[in-house]
Amino acid sequence: MSSKSRGLLFIISAASGTGKTTLAERLVQIMPNLRMSRSYTSRAARAGERPGVDYNFVSRETFEAMISRGEFLEWADVFGNLYGTSRVDTETWLDSGQDVVLTIDVQGVFQVKALGVDYTGIFILPPSFEVLERRLRGRSADSEDSIQQRLKTARREVLHYAEYEFVVINDQLESATVRLQEIIAAARSRTPRMQALALKIIDTFHG
Ligand code: 5GP
Repeated sequence: MSSKSRGLLFIISAASGTGKTTLAERLVQIMPNLRMSRSYTSRAARAGERPGVDYNFVSRETFEAMISRGEFLEWADVFGNLYGTSRVDTETWLDSGQDVVLTIDVQGVFQVKALGVDYTGIFILPPSFEVLERRLRGRSADSEDSIQQRLKTARREVLHYAEYEFVVINDQLESATVRLQEIIAAARSRTPRMQALALKIIDTFHG
């Protein structure tokens, strides 16, 4: 594969608590040349979250200044906090030929789509509402209010699954990870992505 071809953009969405961050982290550990974007957020760090690793935690003022400078590829207000993807980071990684995974909510995906940016969208569903609720409660990092809000938003978000190219059910971490790997491998084999290499091989037939 040509190392000079531009990287591919993958966008993973799922209701909060579905496990998309865990899945994306596993994916980038397993697959070469794939990296996760680190979002900016105005939300406070949860216990155990590492600044600059899990998120870039910034104040609401800093976030709003970044919006007005046009520094986000997309951003959204989720559960009263602001979350966004750095435009320059994403462009730099893609230009250098790395494939990038964004784990963002459905509002953010609409913005990326509206920009006409090329991406592969993957929606992750939990096996059921009950399982999602259990997972959110098991995480126990959130208050009851926050859990209720996430469940309410989840009911709305899952309705968007059909706007994504792929759907993966996160029933078991291992099988869902394998499914995601397969999707990424398939996207990497698309004809436009393979063209430079294919032409080089075809040249050997006629040279
Ligand atoms: P959490 O607070 O649980 O880490 O994330 C809450 C929601 O914000 C999740 O649905 C997550 O996908 C979304 N989110 C995280 N980062 C971004 C981002 O950069 N942009 C958008 N639009 N949503 C994000």
